[in-house]
Amino acid sequence: VSFSDYRFNPETGKEPHFDKYEVLARDGMTVLDGLLYILDNVDPTLSFRFACREGVCGSCAMFINGSYRLACQTQIKNLKSSKIEVQPLPNFPIIKDLVVDLAAFFEKVEKVMPYIKTVSAPPEKERLQTQHDRHRINEVIDCILCAACQSACPQGWTDKDFLGPAALIKAYRFIGDSRDEAAKERLKLVMGEDGVWRCHSVFNCVEACPKKINQTVAISSLKRKAVAQKLKFWQR
Ligand code: SF4
Repeated sequence: VSFSDYRFNPETGKEPHFDKYEVLARDGMTVLDGLLYILDNVDPTLSFRFACREGVCGSCAMFINGSYRLACQTQIKNLKSSKIEVQPLPNFPIIKDLVVDLAAFFEKVEKVMPYIKTVSAPPEKERLQTQHDRHRINEVIDCILCAACQSACPQGWTDKDFLGPAALIKAYRFIGDSRDEAAKERLKLVMGEDGVWRCHSVFNCVEACPKKINQTVAISSLKRKAVAQKLKFWQR
């Protein structure tokens, strides 16, 4: 197969371009395997992120043949093409080649307090959760913070302060967690100027998500909770 990889090094002043590499694809080979082959055997200057190689860390989210994908979860044979074009996540500043700057993305996630916050005295052993309560946050808990949804969100393209789908569903995940005691505080954050009301339900995030999370439905639910809180009939 022929890889066409986006190259850009801001330090050289050279225009962004694509470099082509031939890779002998074997059965079971992923796009990440192909990039690693290039790095090890052809071009050690190619830069890209990866870590777990099993769809858990979210580091290798890229724009592959025109779609958002995790390189480690994308089998070359499933692309059904001998040409593979690999680009960095669009709409983020590029550090080098396929590596983008995610600092602003993680700052937004941090804003919604992505951790269980409690005010009551700690129990003797642990804060328990029923299966039913866990089930309510099953889908959103799968978010691996790959940033594909943020990259695909048209609101984020023009409004750099918009919290974005990943931060909002992180808020939804903790607001919905039966052990958390800061739901109202968090809800106030997402009701702010840069929060849920900036989402126009375009569904690009849903299409981009490699974990098949429906962020738009979760954000709509946050909007309902926000209205309920305003009208003072909010419950978890
Ligand atoms: Fe990635 Fe999906 Fe989480 Fe967005 S919601 S960061 S696309 S895993």
